[in-house]
Amino acid sequence: MTVHSAAAEAGRKPNLFHFTRAPRPMVDRAEGIYLWDRTGRRYIDGSSGAVNVNIGHGNRAVIDAMKRQMNQVCFAYTIHFESEPAVELARGLAARLPNGLERIYFVSGGSEAVEACLKLARQWAVVTGQPKRWKIIGRMPSYHGITVGSLGVTGDDVLTKAFEPMGQPMPLIPAPMVHRDNDNLSLEERGLRYADMLEAKILGEGPESVLAFLMEPIGGAATAALVPPDSYFARIREICDRYGILLIHDEVMTGIGRTGKFLGGDHWNCKPDIISLSKGLSSGYAPLGALAATERIVGPVVAAGGFLHGHTYGGNPVACAAGLAVLGEVDRLGLIGNAAAMGEVLKGELEALTRHFPFVGDVRGKGLLLGAELYADPVTKTPLPPELNANVRLIDLAFERGLIVYSRRVRGGPFSDNFMVAPPLIVTREQIGEIVSVLGDTLEALAAELDL
Ligand code: PLP
Repeated sequence: MTVHSAAAEAGRKPNLFHFTRAPRPMVDRAEGIYLWDRTGRRYIDGSSGAVNVNIGHGNRAVIDAMKRQMNQVCFAYTIHFESEPAVELARGLAARLPNGLERIYFVSGGSEAVEACLKLARQWAVVTGQPKRWKIIGRMPSYHGITVGSLGVTGDDVLTKAFEPMGQPMPLIPAPMVHRDNDNLSLEERGLRYADMLEAKILGEGPESVLAFLMEPIGGAATAALVPPDSYFARIREICDRYGILLIHDEVMTGIGRTGKFLGGDHWNCKPDIISLSKGLSSGYAPLGALAATERIVGPVVAAGGFLHGHTYGGNPVACAAGLAVLGEVDRLGLIGNAAAMGEVLKGELEALTRHFPFVGDVRGKGLLLGAELYADPVTKTPLPPELNANVRLIDLAFERGLIVYSRRVRGGPFSDNFMVAPPLIVTREQIGEIVSVLGDTLEALAAELDL
């Protein structure tokens, strides 16, 4: 029985909102890396919510900044006014982003940010006399959002096929799941092999029709912290440049310090043309997302009459005040350095767990975006039978023990169960010990239940 069905059987009616089948525990309060429900049970937030609460819960500086802004002005339409928090946040981001990514556009979430990236790229192509370019190449598996446009570049058969023929399914190349490959190539050679698949796809589609390539520098939700070999990045940029194709980095999950650098792509000094941000940008204190692009992209679009886009809540002053205060807290608390240092500790602990639980393998990731796979046999990379629902059971067993981990089944390419551990970037060494101890108990219980 799952935690959620247990709650349902306890007599509560299914939720009236959010279309969930069964009620969740009622959240009561949250502080640091912990949440409590109404019954007083404590949960360690080992997934930072949806890998977004980077600065942890209950941060007073952010709450106070939002209160101040609410007392001043809660909403002013971006068509009519600029607001100081939006201007300052844009400035703060531009100063931290690479490659002249200094033109910032605010939205309210990750899917909206990706959607806006796709539209900006397309409008750029049209106004610069390249109207035949419209295809955005994505990867399988991948996750870039849940709106019709962002689903078009998402590599997840279950999510995308449910809505066909709505939207426009885009061409996909395999994500560099190099840990699964069984060949004689070195890791770096494998990285180049996967990058070269982009060139083959461009040639197959017709280079004149291809507008952009969209990827996460470190694959999050769909691939559980997949880190491509170093060789991948430079070759991808080279191929994009060769064919005049824009490189879009989706930094919704990897951005704002999560991986131990400000951006995931900063580990390789990547120079994308456009990036999407959300999640850690407001750390969950308000709905907020952004895209950042270079003047080369935004300039011609603005000159031609402006970006044909806009949401009522884009650039909301309270959300931007939250984002600005989050940036301040990331600096003040040294969270990027802590993510790097604590990430090393946690990775080491996860690797130790794999020695104890042989069905866990391929620990990977950077900073505090770490993941691993569950295998029937990690040596031959044989997946567990899907009907075991091992990753769903893992989440439930952990939740019952007061630990929240992130798990999502990879639905495209070879089947796999995996999970991520991604606590807030404020996590301490002692708290990592706590997380790993509960995770160990959870894996013990999983092994007993599934006979692993
Ligand atoms: N892009 C990436 C890389 C994500 O991980 C997510 C969410 O998990 C999204 C986009 C969509 O963000 P949101 O859920 O805020 O719409």
